[in-house]
This record gives sequence, C-alpha cells and structure tokens, in this order.
Amino acid sequence: MTSGTVINIQKYSIHDGPGIRTTVFLKGCPLKCWWCHNPESQSLKHEIMFFEERCTGCGSCIKRCPEKAIQFKDSYPVVDENKCKICGKCTDFCPNNAREYVGKDMTAQELMREIIKDEVFYDESNGGVTFSGGEPLIHADFLAQLLKLCKERGIHTAVDTSGYVAWENFEKIFDKVDLFLFDLKHMNNDMHKKYMDVPNDLILENLKKLSDKNCNIFIRMPIIAGVNDDSEHIEKAIEFIEKLNVLQVNLLPYHKMGMDKYRRLKMDYRLSGMEKPSNERMEEIADKFKKSGIRIKIGG
Ligand code: SF4
Ligand code: SF4
Repeated sequence: MTSGTVINIQKYSIHDGPGIRTTVFLKGCPLKCWWCHNPESQSLKHEIMFFEERCTGCGSCIKRCPEKAIQFKDSYPVVDENKCKICGKCTDFCPNNAREYVGKDMTAQELMREIIKDEVFYDESNGGVTFSGGEPLIHADFLAQLLKLCKERGIHTAVDTSGYVAWENFEKIFDKVDLFLFDLKHMNNDMHKKYMDVPNDLILENLKKLSDKNCNIFIRMPIIAGVNDDSEHIEKAIEFIEKLNVLQVNLLPYHKMGMDKYRRLKMDYRLSGMEKPSNERMEEIADKFKKSGIRIKIGG
C-alpha cells in the first residue's frame, strides 16, 4: 500500500467541484506561483509553521529540542535550520500550539476512512471528494489507488491539477476521474516562467490531450491584475479554450488569503501590495468568455 503526505483534509468544501465535498490537499508542487495561497503545499518535505502571536516565550520548545536547534532571540524562539531535523518534538510540547507540524504521511486506506465519514453529505448534495495540493498528480500511483477506492464506493471524484506533470501520470488516473479542475494561469511562456517558475508548454499539451479524451474539465483561471488580466491575454486564452472540449471556465479573482503563511514558513511573498481585481473588471472578462459561447463562472 503506497502512502502520501497530506497537509489538510477540508470537510464541507463547496468551491472545489459540485455539491458538498471533502478536499484532500497533498504536499509537493513543481510550480511556485507568486500568489499561491497554500505555500505549505509547495515543498515535498515536512515543515514547521511558527505562529509568533501565540508564543508566550515559555521556552518549552528550547528544552525539548533534541538537536539544540532553538535559541531565544528578541524574546522569540528562533530555529537554526541547519540543525533542525523536522522531528516535530517542539510542536508536541508547545503549550500554546505556536508551532504546527505540516504534513502527515497517510496510506490510501487511512485517507479513505476519513473520506467515507461524510458519504451521507456527498449522496445528499451530489458532492464527493476532490484531490488538490500542491500537485496531486506528482503522487500518481497513490492518487490512482485512492481514485479506484472511491470509484468502488460510488464516490464522485475531482482532481485539481496544475497540469505540469508527464502525460504518463495522467494516463494512470484519467479514466477514474469524474471531473478535472485544470488550472490555466498564463498563455505566454515567458510570463509563465516568471510567475510560476516553469514553462507552460507541457500544461497546454496535457490540457489538449485530456480534452481529446473527452474528460470532464472545468478550467480554473486565477485573475491577477497586471499579470494576466489584460485584454490581449484574455483573448489568447479564449482562442485556445474555444478549440477544446471543456464544460466550464471558473475565473478566480486574486485574494490575499494565505499571505501570512509565508512569514510563518520564512518564505518571501512576492506580490505584496497587489489588490484584488475589481468586480467590474471581473465582469468585463466574464463577458468576453460569454460572447465566445464559453460557460463561465466567477469564483470556484
Ligand atoms: S522540529 Fe525537532 S529538531 Fe527541529 S526545532 Fe523542533 S524539536 Fe528541534
Ligand atoms: S514552547 Fe511554544 S510558547 Fe513556548 S517558547 Fe516555544 S513556541 Fe513559544
């Protein structure tokens, strides 16, 4: 039985596919999007998040760390990354939950036990389970196993993907997926490399292949002012999508949720100062899609 690293199992989710869903977030992603609101999902490794506002400076973590990796600096416990082995002992002994361990290794069976707890809600709402991340397809064998178990129980499945994985990974799962939530972030390769850290050719190619296989696809486009909301880019995206077999496009306005997590993980947030696009601009973009006959929704 394979296992995967889970960062969160979100219950009663209503923005990740139809009905009421359980969204399982898997750890590890090949992209580094500047606006990523789950930065804790990017690294494959386990991590510790520090919530400084909860820390009372009691020093318990310092005493418990077997590596002597923590020292006080300006009344805060500071970790020496070179010494820390991410063992998690400091999280166990912090009385204020100021340190949180990110990443739990689970087998497919263990995850299924969580998923089926809410089967009654899936049945009543035509919901199901969504596998997200990170990039769930980097764990293709684990994902295939989970999807098979869901299918056997008649649970609707959705997979939220960046598309940036080898086609062989899609081949392992596409016949077990009821709906793909496929992210399309930028049509220009240089802009894609700048804001996502990887080129877009493999993503566009995989999207075409899934469309050719008649898979059910919702495209998800984050809209970030000054990055991908200009008319020229929107028209390019429409021109590409028009030729595909997709059920819907979801336009997801940029938001700042998750920004705090960067500080907690000692990562840089590269879009500070960015504002949410206006409702008017979102409507204008949606209208352009509607005029091309594409079913459109603002939001997830
Ligand atoms: S995770 Fe382990 S090694 Fe790292 S600071 Fe905490 S107790 Fe020390
Ligand atoms: S154990 Fe928790 S509250 Fe105490 S110093 Fe460490 S992080 Fe702060």
